[in-house]
Amino acid sequence: MAATVFFAPVRSVKKRSMIVRAGALLERAGLADAIEKDDLVAVKLHFGETGNTGFVHPVFIREVVARIKEHGGKPFLTDANTLYSGNRANGVDHVECAIRNGFSFATVEAPIIIADGIDGREAVDVRIDAKHFETVRIGAAAVHADAMVAVTHVKGHEATGFGGALKNVGMGLGCRSAKQRMHADFSPDVDAEKCTACRRCERRCPVGAIAVGPDRVAVVDFETCYGCGECVAACSYGAIGIQWKTTPEAIQEKIVEHVMGAVAGKEGKVVYLSFVTAVSPDCDCWSFSDAPIVGDIGVLASTDIVAIDQAAYDLVTAATGLPGSRGEGLEAGVDKFTTVTGVDGSAAIRYAEECGLGSREYELVTVE
Ligand code: SF4
Ligand code: SF4
Repeated sequence: MAATVFFAPVRSVKKRSMIVRAGALLERAGLADAIEKDDLVAVKLHFGETGNTGFVHPVFIREVVARIKEHGGKPFLTDANTLYSGNRANGVDHVECAIRNGFSFATVEAPIIIADGIDGREAVDVRIDAKHFETVRIGAAAVHADAMVAVTHVKGHEATGFGGALKNVGMGLGCRSAKQRMHADFSPDVDAEKCTACRRCERRCPVGAIAVGPDRVAVVDFETCYGCGECVAACSYGAIGIQWKTTPEAIQEKIVEHVMGAVAGKEGKVVYLSFVTAVSPDCDCWSFSDAPIVGDIGVLASTDIVAIDQAAYDLVTAATGLPGSRGEGLEAGVDKFTTVTGVDGSAAIRYAEECGLGSREYELVTVE
């Protein structure tokens, strides 16, 4: 059965603020049905890496927060820590980065709770029994929340081609070691030049597979290592390399399986809001935002994560590439994400439908 995706085009014929219209979209999509009084509601967003400007800005998040409170919910802003070393790799830096990007109680009127805690270990194994994983590790705050509103900035992505709601929820809410499991068939690789022999990896490895050797460099016992990625997350010196040995399709499927874990037990309790604006060719995890590949299109809302991603993908495909961007010269109808990134980013959408997360068939309902 076709899903419904509500769409507020960026053009405001009635001269109404997009902030108000985005809130109204959430209501049309069924926010009232998703939230009961006193529900703890995770507002899953991306706080933006330092220097990045593409993330969904706090003025919109404040509107989302206000709408959730109107329905009796108790919203909190959340995301899980990143695998790469940047300004969101631990809970302390992450909150500081969020505040510097304008997210604080003073601006959005909701607290920030990092989903997987101060160092990525506050996570819950959720059983999914899927193709790649039997269980996935999801940030505990997201798992324990009663409901969720996932706010997504739609953009390209260097590894997955397309960054939509599936990526926001699946990759975003996986804890640090889960992100490693998604990114690679992992085999840690220690850089002797960078290793300081601090032994953090040694203390963190659950099976004793890494230890500092006589040369004062960490050494991996590959017979014992099972590729959990905890040592990569533990190392503050970037001394353990992230291997990128998996295929883009496999990464996308693994992301989808983490979505299954992130929304498990929340049937009817999740609403998605996606901004198809400032569609940069790369992820918001970079410390810059490249020129958008198409002009601003609008905002989407739905309770179907597959349909909302398909709609966002189709809207960008139907747009004309912007001159002066990496989308320059791409006609309407050309798959912008695949052309610009070199990766077919629609694989996740197809796999998510196969996994029963939603429908690629949708009706687009335009809301003024
Ligand atoms: S955590 Fe990093 S720097 Fe410390 S011993 Fe392990 S590899 Fe070396
Ligand atoms: S990947 Fe996991 S099992 Fe392997 S060395 Fe690192 S922490 Fe230990």
